[in-house]
Amino acid sequence: MEGIRSSLCPECGAMNRAAVTRCWLCSGNLEASSARSEEVILAEIVPEQIRRSAASFALSTLLLLVTILCVAFGLADFAPGLSGLLLLIVLPAFLITVIRTRRHEARGEQVSTGRKVESFVISAALIVATFFGLAALAFLAFFVYCLVALSRGGF
Ligand SMILES: [Zn+2]
Repeated sequence: MEGIRSSLCPECGAMNRAAVTRCWLCSGNLEASSARSEEVILAEIVPEQIRRSAASFALSTLLLLVTILCVAFGLADFAPGLSGLLLLIVLPAFLITVIRTRRHEARGEQVSTGRKVESFVISAALIVATFFGLAALAFLAFFVYCLVALSRGGF
């Protein structure tokens, strides 16, 4: 393997030892070519790592999703309310977190587990707040309806 122990001068093509930075024949810069080969190696390795992390992320996401569904269906037998709560709050929050994480990773940003948990908790809180908001609105609507009905002479 010549390529490891020696390098060809990019200027004149002369063979040089890998340790030297200038060509013995034309004193051209040899570092430029070695830097380029390092970039090529990095370009070959990095997408591989991203692909691997994406695949493992997809797998762990799928496993978590299956776990949530199993717990929800398992609870449905003796705690239907809790099971419904899990499906209505945990599942959407989980999916929102997955989609957010995907978007960040598509942009090349690293998403830590802490950020994922944070996103999940915020999503779950927003869903709960939405439910409470809707319940409050429904109660308010009912209250107003009763007032209007009363003012018109009762039921
Ligand atoms: Zn040279």
